[in-house]
Amino acid sequence: MSADRSLQILLDELGRLPGIGPKSAQRIAYYLLEADAEEARRLADAILAVKAQVHFCSRCFNYATDDECAICQDSSRDRTRICVVSEPRDVTAIERTGNYRGLYHVLGGVISPIDKIGPEQLHIRELLARLGSEDIQEVIIATNPNIEGETTASYLARIIKPMDIAVSRLASGLPVGGDLEYADELTLGRAIEARRIL
Ligand SMILES: [Zn+2]
Repeated sequence: MSADRSLQILLDELGRLPGIGPKSAQRIAYYLLEADAEEARRLADAILAVKAQVHFCSRCFNYATDDECAICQDSSRDRTRICVVSEPRDVTAIERTGNYRGLYHVLGGVISPIDKIGPEQLHIRELLARLGSEDIQEVIIATNPNIEGETTASYLARIIKPMDIAVSRLASGLPVGGDLEYADELTLGRAIEARRIL
């Protein structure tokens, strides 16, 4: 294979990555060309290892290297609460806050009629099975505050509430450091609804 051809393949592959445009792809490709072989191999190995070792947790569908993820296996977690998110990266985001010690359930997306994604395409059946077999007292729905996220949240609330389990939704409001006059009315409206007593 010619040098041009193999460089082109690398550029094409890099360009497929989210957030990497042609310019960034070029910058990374030239960086790798000049990097020593060991550095390039570490990157390639890391990609292969993550594909070979990481799969979905059999209980909550978060990323895991064992049958269950580290959170499901952690006996110090509050096992009476489940926080429902749409993607594994949302688990990471909530974990970063350090404010939540319960369990999770990853839906693997949100209800979106336009994309032909209904409840049966998501891990909702598995969630309901958990609510039936685990001792859960509260389900916190943390889907994104957009139309699909809201649709998914109300769908879940409707089927979970009759099971005698508390259902809550993340409060959404004003960004910290934000300015009232620049907030859009949806955000400001939510912030008023989700106000708390001081
Ligand atoms: Zn898990």
